[in-house]
Amino acid sequence: MTTESHPQAFQAEVRQLLDIVVHSLYTDREIFIRELVSNASDSMEKLQHVQATEKDIFDPKAELKVDITTDEDAGTLTIQDYGIGMTHEELVENLGTIAHSGTKAFLEAAKDQGNDASALIGRFGVGFYSVFMAAESVEVFTHSWRQGEQNLVWKSDGVTGYSIEEVDEQNRGCKLVIKLKEEHKEFAKEERVKGILKRYSNFVQFPILVNGTRVNEVEALWLKNKSEITDEQYNEFYKFAANAFDEPRYRMHFSADAPLALNALVFAPDDNMERMGFGQTEPGVALYCRRVLIDEKPEGLLPDWLRFLRGVIDSADLPLNISRESMQDSALVKKIGDVVTKRFLKHLDKESTKDAAKYKEFYERFSRFIKEGLVTDYTHKDALAKLLRAESSMHDAGELTSLADYVTRMKDGQEEIYYQNGTSRDVIEAGPYVEGFKARGVEVLYFYEPIDEYVLNQLTEFDGKKLVSVARADAKVDDIDPTTADEREALSDEDLKSLSEWLKETLGDKVTEVRGGKRLVNSPAAAMSPQDEISPQMRQMFKAMGQDAPEGGKVELELNPRHDLVKKLNAARDAKPELAKLLGEQLLDQSLLSAGLLEDQRALVERGLKIMEAALD
Ligand code: ADP
Repeated sequence: MTTESHPQAFQAEVRQLLDIVVHSLYTDREIFIRELVSNASDSMEKLQHVQATEKDIFDPKAELKVDITTDEDAGTLTIQDYGIGMTHEELVENLGTIAHSGTKAFLEAAKDQGNDASALIGRFGVGFYSVFMAAESVEVFTHSWRQGEQNLVWKSDGVTGYSIEEVDEQNRGCKLVIKLKEEHKEFAKEERVKGILKRYSNFVQFPILVNGTRVNEVEALWLKNKSEITDEQYNEFYKFAANAFDEPRYRMHFSADAPLALNALVFAPDDNMERMGFGQTEPGVALYCRRVLIDEKPEGLLPDWLRFLRGVIDSADLPLNISRESMQDSALVKKIGDVVTKRFLKHLDKESTKDAAKYKEFYERFSRFIKEGLVTDYTHKDALAKLLRAESSMHDAGELTSLADYVTRMKDGQEEIYYQNGTSRDVIEAGPYVEGFKARGVEVLYFYEPIDEYVLNQLTEFDGKKLVSVARADAKVDDIDPTTADEREALSDEDLKSLSEWLKETLGDKVTEVRGGKRLVNSPAAAMSPQDEISPQMRQMFKAMGQDAPEGGKVELELNPRHDLVKKLNAARDAKPELAKLLGEQLLDQSLLSAGLLEDQRALVERGLKIMEAALD
């Protein structure tokens, strides 16, 4: 092959690409170094493959590394690798045309986006040509790995074309001498270049040296075999990747080949910074493609509620360079995130059964994220529900149980999962709701955060069983018989009916209904949430969130026909009508108070005084 010294024109598409690259308002100009170092690393990886099969290789002793030198005075940056290099034909083919359909797709996308093309380049790079964002001219000195090939230099100013000439002796591989534009001389500064390499190329598998000093010291742990990694190494890596000082509470390291090539190493920190008042945590799982950083804080990779996770996801299927693939990236990125999310939730579930005490500590600090996931992310609802924990009427204070465990303890004939949301265990147990469940040996879960009511409402069911608040009038627990019979005499059905009617009339539209029921034991009455209506608790939550509460929210008053107070109230209706009316109203307000639903307590206090007076008469 003869060597031309006269310039060759770039293929039209290359010119178009260069035009975008050079003229985009571009903030991530620095990524050109990432792109070139990736090419250098790729070429050495290819050399390793060649070495495996070929005996006769040019410059066989050349060490596999990337040598970078900066010359501030001359305004040049030189990047040398000892990879496969290029022949004349390959130079023409690789650096003069765009053969990759991906780059063509990029061009299409860029045309539609105008100036926003810069964002596309920033995330995915445009490979070799990105050098012209900063270069006035570039020389690529090269010798192919094949014996007997020429020593060549490819030169271009990145505008119209290039030339290829023969030169003196070269090492195997490529040496790029980049003459920087006046306004981009910063890339000839050693510290600037080191900073860029640390950011994007820290995990490249070959040594990278800047003016003779190695810059990439950290191993890409996520690509190693689990059995070769110690706990200390993992923890060190976590501290490095998360910029953290604590020890991680959980870690998950996994690799997959199909359907996606994936290596992920993610950590859950020890503490939740949001809980400690540091504001919203920024996502901290970085996206890599074969050891090279694509995005430190990729949006849309993992769901928002996993923003506390730290670590790395690396997929060889990702287009680091858009020329390796096309721009239909977001679906792929989403899919990667989805796989990791599923695996992580499964991992947490497994860990939680393996060491419940450890999980409890995690849960106390991070349950907010699980709950956030439950109300915002329908896709992972079931897996998230498994991670919920609560105290229970069957266990001591401080002990947590899962919904799955609850289900294993459900009584014969019990169809629903019962819970109560209240400010504390004491408040819940002092109230009227749980007693009926206890009397039947039916377990009740206790939730203490205001958001829980909303979370459980959204969740609706677990394992095919409805989640039902103990305050629901229609809870099916009434169908289960108490474990010991209540010997106290009850008000007759007739009396109960007329007492209920009288009370409904007395209370007016403060209640939807007054009726007797079987559920209560020690309490005379309880405020229940009517069937098919938004519960008063939910209404309260809406209000607390500053939202318009939906209509409704009235309670149904259930009376305990065996309770002395109820029986006496029935008698007092005729004997002391004035007092009976006061007592009826007081009974409702006290029920609302125990349910945490009484908004204005003044009437309760005033009435209380009148009742006290009457008691002394
Ligand atoms: P990509 O790397 O995505 O293929 P580039 O525009 O960066 O796109 O490079 C085009 C081609 O040029 C590469 O596919 C490779 O064949 C060749 N090339 C680039 N840099 C080097 C290098 N340092 N050594 C050997 N070949 C290279």
